[in-house]
Amino acid sequence: MTYVGRFAPSPTGPLHAGSLVAALASWLDARAHGGRWLVRIEDVDRPRCVPSADRYILTQLAACGLIPDQAPVWQSQRGAHYQAALDDLTRRGLAYPCVCSRQDIAVVQARLGIARQRGRELPYPGTCRPERGGPSGQPPYPAKPAMRLHTGRAFSVASGAGLIFEAGQTSPGWRIDWQDRRLGAQWQNVTQAVGDFVLRRADGLWAYQLAVVVDDAAQDITHIVRGEDLTDNTPRQILLQHALGLSTPAYLHTPLVLGTNGEKLSKQNGAPPLKLPDARAALAALNGAARALGLPPANAANVTEALAMWTQAWAEQCP
Ligand code: GLU
Repeated sequence: MTYVGRFAPSPTGPLHAGSLVAALASWLDARAHGGRWLVRIEDVDRPRCVPSADRYILTQLAACGLIPDQAPVWQSQRGAHYQAALDDLTRRGLAYPCVCSRQDIAVVQARLGIARQRGRELPYPGTCRPERGGPSGQPPYPAKPAMRLHTGRAFSVASGAGLIFEAGQTSPGWRIDWQDRRLGAQWQNVTQAVGDFVLRRADGLWAYQLAVVVDDAAQDITHIVRGEDLTDNTPRQILLQHALGLSTPAYLHTPLVLGTNGEKLSKQNGAPPLKLPDARAALAALNGAARALGLPPANAANVTEALAMWTQAWAEQCP
């Protein structure tokens, strides 16, 4: 089997115990399948990136024996590819400009009685859709526009792909059925749950959803292994892959590491950076990540031995 996996950190800070879990799992899965493992630095959200965090992350990975099989790619250098994908979608009527501010969107959502849930974006109400006479005619626009995917437009997909355009609904849209290798069968109606999502922000920055889909395809990624917090992005990404005529990789979302407060460990809630001054510290950090993945502790002399042991265990656990 051809297998290409990847770890795609955002350099908003150093790796912490939670992000090491995704790094280790993606590496083990690639090795267990005799595949290649790549690293992509997802630095599209420039204001959130921390200077030198990218280099520091690569050093942390190397200290843990997780060395990519190819030179890493930086998303900040790939804008032309994202633009080409966006142009393609726009030309086909699948992307449109939107000048709604957060406030505009909140007002319409409140009018429609859509209540905000903790940690969840509300579905975009479609105010700027071209068929509603939004600003999508000719420029100049009243404000610098974001670009959104039109999730209410049908396009052809191969039968059996797990995508259904539900035309009979009050808001016709896409239901995506997909299989997670750990979580099992999943589905989401993207149009209802998320609505027309942003591909390029009004400030000109590329959105994660577009960049990740374009790059996974450009790097021929066949298997995505990443943290469970990203699970509900997957249907959006599958929809975009189909809209752009790209293939869909296999997905596996790993368990999250929770802090003492029961919240997901993340840079935002102050997860301490992994300090890996020597081989012992790296082995201890890897043992922690392995535990989170349900792997046995490695009674190993060094990182290389431990990784070999877990690769074997992973192959049996996640064929
Ligand atoms: N860059 C994302 C993050 O650090 C991960 C994206 C992905 O694995 O698809 O959360």
